[in-house]
Amino acid sequence: MSHSSKTENETQNFLEELIEAELKSGRVSKEQLLTRFPPEPNGYLHLGHASSICLNFGIAKKFGGRTNLRFDDTNPVTEDTEYVESIKADIQWLGFQWANEFYASDYFETLYEYAVALIKKGLAYVDDSTAEQIAAMKGTPTSAGTNSPYRNRSVEENLDLFTRMRNGEFKEGEKTLRAKIDMASPNMHLRDPLMYRIKHAHHHRTGDKWCIYPMYDFAHGQSDSIENITHSICTLEFEVHKPLYNWFIEKLEIFPSRQFEFARRNISYTVMSKRKLLQLVNEKIVDGWDDPRMPTISGVRRRGYTAESIRNFAEVAGISRRENVTDYNLLESCLREHLNKIATRTMAVINPLKVVLTNYNEGQTEMLKAENNPEATEKTYRDITFGREIYIEKDDFMEHAPEGFFRLTPGGMVRLKHAYIIRCENVVKNDDGTIREIHCTYIPESKSGQDKSGIKVKSVIHWVDASTALTAEVRMYDKLFNVEAPDAQEDDFKNYINPDSLKIFPEAKIEPAMVTYANNERFQFLRLGYFVEDKYSTSKHRIYNRAVTLKDEWAKEQKKQK
Ligand code: ATP
Ligand code: MG
Repeated sequence: MSHSSKTENETQNFLEELIEAELKSGRVSKEQLLTRFPPEPNGYLHLGHASSICLNFGIAKKFGGRTNLRFDDTNPVTEDTEYVESIKADIQWLGFQWANEFYASDYFETLYEYAVALIKKGLAYVDDSTAEQIAAMKGTPTSAGTNSPYRNRSVEENLDLFTRMRNGEFKEGEKTLRAKIDMASPNMHLRDPLMYRIKHAHHHRTGDKWCIYPMYDFAHGQSDSIENITHSICTLEFEVHKPLYNWFIEKLEIFPSRQFEFARRNISYTVMSKRKLLQLVNEKIVDGWDDPRMPTISGVRRRGYTAESIRNFAEVAGISRRENVTDYNLLESCLREHLNKIATRTMAVINPLKVVLTNYNEGQTEMLKAENNPEATEKTYRDITFGREIYIEKDDFMEHAPEGFFRLTPGGMVRLKHAYIIRCENVVKNDDGTIREIHCTYIPESKSGQDKSGIKVKSVIHWVDASTALTAEVRMYDKLFNVEAPDAQEDDFKNYINPDSLKIFPEAKIEPAMVTYANNERFQFLRLGYFVEDKYSTSKHRIYNRAVTLKDEWAKEQKKQK
C-alpha cells in the first residue's frame, strides 16, 4: 500500500495552515519566519524528536523560513557533549540543516541581566524557603497558595542577595529566585514560579563559571526571544506554561515569540522518553543507545531505517492537538514501502541445510541471471553461481511433513528461485539421527526463464551456492516490548521486554556478491525481509540486521477496518 500519496494541495497540518494564513496577512514575513528545535543534550534523540524535527524544519523549509538548533543546556548535571554530537548527527542524517547552532548556556549572562531587570521592577525576589516549604505554600489546583515570608523583600536586598547567589556565597537549596506573580492564580505555574536555583555543578560548556542556573521556564522562552523565534512549537504539556511564557515576554519587553503546541508522538510497543531509554542502556537491557531495537534515531538507523522513511512516517502519522498513539505497524509500513523501491534483492540462508544435486556434474558450475530489483525503473541483473552443492533453509525441508506443507519433502519437488526445479531423493543422517544433508536431483529442462519441463510445483524457495557462499551473522530483530503500551502497565515497563526481540543466526550463508556493496546498501533477502549491514560488520565477520519483515501488518489492519 502507498502512504506517500500526499500532494502539495492536500490537507496541511494545523500549524502549516496557520503559518500560511499569517504569511498571507503579512503578520510575519518569509524572512522573519524562524522556528527552532530545542533538545536538551541529556540523551539520544528518539522518534518523538524526529517528528518534532520534521515539523520544525519542515515548516521552515516549506514556507521559506529558517530553523535554529538550540541546545537547551540549562541543567548541568545530566548533560554531556556526547549527546550534543549525536543530536547533530541525527538531525543531519534526517536530512535537515539548521540556520544557527545555539546554546541556552550562551545566554546565561543575558538571562541573568533579565532577572536583574525583573528584580528592579519589583517582579522577582530571593526566597530563603526550602524546597519543602515552597511546595507546602504552593496550594492546590483548587485552593490558593500562601505568600512566602520573603516575598516583600526590598529591591536592594533582592539585588544584593541575587548577586551573592551568583558569587557562590550560598549552598544549594539555601536560596532561589522567584517571579512575583500571584500565589492565588488558578494556573499553578503562575504561583511565583522559580527562576533560578543554586547548583554547584560543572557545566559541560560554561565549566565552573556559574553556580546558579535558570529554570526551564526562565530559559526557554527567553532564548526564543533572544533569537527572534517567531513560532516556538512544543508539545501539549507546555500549554499550561504559556501564560508564564507570555508574562516574561511582556514584563521584560523582549521579542514577542509565540508558543504553539501539538501532541507528543507516541508509538505503540515502545517507550518514548529519554529517561526510560537511558535505563535500558544503563541496565544493559539493550546494547547501547543505538541498539537496533531502540526507538532512537541512531537505533533505527542502525536497524536499517532510511531517513526518507522516517520523514514519510512523520508526515503520514501527522500532528494532532490531542494525545494519541501511533501504530507501530505504520512505522514499519513506511519503511517497507521505501525499501521495496530501493532494496537490492539477494538470497541468504540463515539456517543452512546442505543439498547435494546428485545428477549435477562434480566440479561443474554455471552462472544464472538474477534481477536486482523488480521495482526499479531500470532493470539490472547480477550473476549468481549454481553448482552441485547448495544450501537451503532447514525450515524449507521436512522429512515427515504434515498435509499442507508445500516445500521440500522426500519425493517432493520445489523450484529454486532463479534456477531449477529439484526433487528430494534421499535424506542423509548423522549417527545421532539428525539430518546431515539431503540428496536431490535437478530437472535440467526446468531452468528459470526457459522452463520446458511442464512440471508445476507449489513452492519457490531461496538458496545459496555452497562452493562460493560466504558465512555471515544475521540478526533477526523484532519489537522490543511485547505489550502495546509498556508505559501504561502497573509495574515497571522493563518487565515487558520481548524475550524474542533478537535472534542471532551466526552461520548464515550469503552470496559472494555481498562484498561488492557499500555498507549502507539496503537488501531484501528473498522471503526473509529487508536487511542492512551492521555498523560493527567487518570483512572478516559480516553482520546483517533485519530492518523489517516482508509482511505488511499495517495493510492487513487497514483491510480489516474496511
Ligand atoms: P524526553 O521526555 O524523551 O526526555 P523531552 O521533551 O524532555 O523528551 P527535549 O530534549 O526537551 O526532550 O525535547 C526537544 C524537543 O523535542 C522539544 O521541543 C520537545 O517538545 C520535542 N519532543 C520530545 N519528545 C517528543 C515526542 N514524543 N513527540 C514530539 N515531540 C517531542
Ligand atoms: Mg525535556
